[in-house]
Amino acid sequence: EIVVRLTDVSKIYPLPSGDVIALDHISLTIKKGEFVAIIGPSGSGKSTLLNQLGCLDVPTQGDLEIGGKLVRDMTDYELTDLRLVTIGFIFQKFNLLPLLSAYENVEYPYTLKYRKKDTTGRVSKLLAMVGINEDRARHKPPELSGGQQQRVAIARALVNNPKILLCDEPTGNLDSKTGILVMSMLRKLNEKGKTLIIVTHDPGIAEQADRIITIRDGRVV
Ligand code: ADP
Ligand code: ADP
Repeated sequence: EIVVRLTDVSKIYPLPSGDVIALDHISLTIKKGEFVAIIGPSGSGKSTLLNQLGCLDVPTQGDLEIGGKLVRDMTDYELTDLRLVTIGFIFQKFNLLPLLSAYENVEYPYTLKYRKKDTTGRVSKLLAMVGINEDRARHKPPELSGGQQQRVAIARALVNNPKILLCDEPTGNLDSKTGILVMSMLRKLNEKGKTLIIVTHDPGIAEQADRIITIRDGRVV
């Protein structure tokens, strides 16, 4: 079962100094439950590719299908649901909301989807799963270590039970020991069936993947 299909996707940034071809006719498919690493030098188009996969950006040319559906045929409602429910995002800089507690950060996407607070204990269970205790969960992100913030971010990414996890350098801001811990969490989620797509320049992470996609100058090599 194919969950992601890119067909001849290009992304061009028009700049006064000339067009930047960030993605140059990329075609690829990713199967359900696969763990794919995207590697390549800085500026090769990895973030741009991940932004396309997450539907955070629109391609200049080409087609993107998620879950068998063409993204450009989706309604605004379907697109919102795709970003909020189907896909979970994990970033290098965690991107937590600094004024909310760890608990509230995890609960927030749930409240966007279900239009109410979590009364099911789902948020607490996820925080426990990533090793954030109730006391820590009351703290705000600036009061947490990088590793703790990334665990909160993983719990947040999971709160609406996504099928696909998109991770942009998820261990880039962590020391190597904490990075290994975060990777083992992500691998466990993959083993439980989540499709895992990770942008990384860490060969140690890439070699754990089922498949490595190497990008150079906006092309798959
Ligand atoms: P990577 O993630 O591999 O470092 P990026 O996807 O960030 O690469 O960038 C690919 C190319 O596209 C680079 O040349 C970058 O400068 C350019 N680029 C990325 N985003 C933009 C943007 N919003 N506007 C203009 N150029 C961009
Ligand atoms: P990474 O650490 O993944 O290489 P970058 O620092 O290249 O990230 O880019 C961070 C963000 O800035 C990306 O979302 C990318 O699209 C955007 N970006 C990258 N290059 C440019 C650029 N030349 N102009 C505008 N935005 C850019």
